[in-house]
Amino acid sequence: MKFKIKKGDTVAVLAGKDKGKEGKVTQILAKENRIVVEGVNISFKHLRAKQSGQGGQKIQFFAPIDISNVQLLCPKCKKNSRVGIQLTDDKKRVRICKKCQTAID
Ligand SMILES: [Zn+2]
Repeated sequence: MKFKIKKGDTVAVLAGKDKGKEGKVTQILAKENRIVVEGVNISFKHLRAKQSGQGGQKIQFFAPIDISNVQLLCPKCKKNSRVGIQLTDDKKRVRICKKCQTAID
């Protein structure tokens, strides 16, 4: 487990232009250490008109942000928190919220 954040997690943005926003992780770009978070880092792609006489289209998408700029939002205590890894009795690794000590997985 390289990252402590997984697809489907809700994270809080700690830095950058979307600081303070919260959203769901929709994509993890492991090689680039970046993630895509719903509603965060909104960008626009311009598409050229396919036929003359039509205007080009503006498509909204969420651009990836650096994974170090976010922190997991604990589903239990609703606070952004550092995540610890704990081994269970049957040797499984689970994520632990360091604020409320609850297993997140
Ligand atoms: Zn917690």
